[in-house]
Order: sequence, then structure tokens, then C-alpha cells
Amino acid sequence: MPEGDTVWLAAERLRAALGGATLRRGEFRIPQLATIDLTGATVGEVVPRGKHLLIRLEDGRTLRTHFRMDGSWHIYRPGTPWKGGPAFEVRAVLATDEWECVGYRLHDVELVPTAEEERLVGHLGPDVLGPDWDLDEALCRLSSAPDEQIGVALVDQRNLAGIGNLYKVESLFLLGVHPWTRVADVPDLAALVVRAQTLMRANRHHPEQTTTGNPRRGRDHWVFGRRGKPCLRCGTAILLGEQGPPLKERVTWWCPTCQAARSPIDPQARTGEPDHPPPVTLR
Ligand SMILES: [Zn+2]
Repeated sequence: MPEGDTVWLAAERLRAALGGATLRRGEFRIPQLATIDLTGATVGEVVPRGKHLLIRLEDGRTLRTHFRMDGSWHIYRPGTPWKGGPAFEVRAVLATDEWECVGYRLHDVELVPTAEEERLVGHLGPDVLGPDWDLDEALCRLSSAPDEQIGVALVDQRNLAGIGNLYKVESLFLLGVHPWTRVADVPDLAALVVRAQTLMRANRHHPEQTTTGNPRRGRDHWVFGRRGKPCLRCGTAILLGEQGPPLKERVTWWCPTCQAARSPIDPQARTGEPDHPPPVTLR
């Protein structure tokens, strides 16, 4: 899952390949940028900002890309076959004499004056992996909507930037918090955020994203992607539901035993099933 750690690693690798180099090829395969040719431009910094990737050119322009669910950058030596997917999924090619950087399935591709970057990323909360990380500010933003469900609030990039579905469900499991808990009812909000950050920091130097310490497939996550499988701690079957506002629902996994709801958290729960999860669509 491309989350903040994925973007952080991509930025490191793109910076190593492109930083300070002049592009001998710089093209886009998306309609709105199809006429742009970056050949001759020199790449300056490559900066992760939450789940956004900013490639700054020394001529004062910034290329912003976003991976969403499926995007990736691949880096090849010239003449090496590209293997990131079919050619029609290539969205951008940035090449120097030494490297060919190919962006597959990129989203939100925009080229803007660097001075206007804030228009694209200014809404983001503190960056979980950023040099200017501010825990107090993140907690303040989370707490500003005390009735919001924590499973929704944690992935709202305006609260804090970088956490996606994987680190959301895994940190909630590790802290024993039911995803539908109100933000105000989370026993230790700071510990929850710090746990998500610790997981992301541990994974940022490599593409694998284990949260259990075990890299083996099927054992690498506590609840993510494990619907119906036994909880690695207690053996209860992991549940899957959808959470979030209409049309923006995200799937959520949780263990109903390790993450039992602590108090009635919706009308259905108040009518006699205190530990029953709120109405969700089970798949
Ligand atoms: Zn469990």
C-alpha cells in the first residue's frame, strides 16, 4: 500500500537518481501535460509531503504526483527493459544520462510554480515522517472534531499527513482501539499516533511494510488484509467493514475481541448490543 513511508522511500531514490542532474528527456503521457517537455531542465530537490511527492526543478517549477492505491516510480539504467506495467500505464518519464525514472499509474500529476506549492499541499496537517513533524499540532487537529470516528480521522490528511489504511488499521489494533470509537473516547490519542509513526519509520527504508516484525506473507500484518483469518493474538476471526462518509468509504479490518468497543458508539449499539460494531457492510 503506498502510504507515507512508500512516498518517503520513493523520494529518497528519485533524489539520488535525479537530484542535481539535467533531464535529457522529460515527458508526460497524460492529456493535460502532453505538450510539456522538460528536456534540459535541472532537477533540484525531491521532497515527500505526506503522500504527495514533490519534484522541484531549478527553473522554479514543481512536479507534484500522488500514488493513491496503485502508483509507483521505477528507476532503470538506460537500455534496461521497463517492468512496472503495460506501456499505457506510464504517466511520466524523467531521464538523465544515467537513469530513466518511469512513473506508472501516477495520479494528481501537476506542474506548478514552486512558489505555489502550498496550493497543492498547504491543506495537509503535520507530516508524520517530515522534518517539521509536530505531534501537538496533529493531536490538536484530531481533537478539533471530537465526535469523528478515529478510523476516519487518522486518514484525514488535514489532521496529519502520511497515514493510509494500512497504518490506520494496524495502529488501532496495537492500541486495542475499535475503529468506530469517537476521537474524544480514544484512551491515549498520542500513543496511537506515535505508534503509527513508529511503524512507518521502521518501514521507510525498504519497500516491505511489516507491522508485526515478521516479513512472511500472511504474518506481516495483524489485521490488514486478514478478513476471516484468526487474530494473531487471540484467534478471533478478523472482521472487515466499510467506514467513512458516503462515496469516500475505506475498508477497515479489526479484531472484535482485541478491539472491543468500550462504550456504545452509535444508536444501534445503544439499543442493547453494546459490543456490537456499528452498522457496516461486511464483505
Ligand atoms: Zn484479537
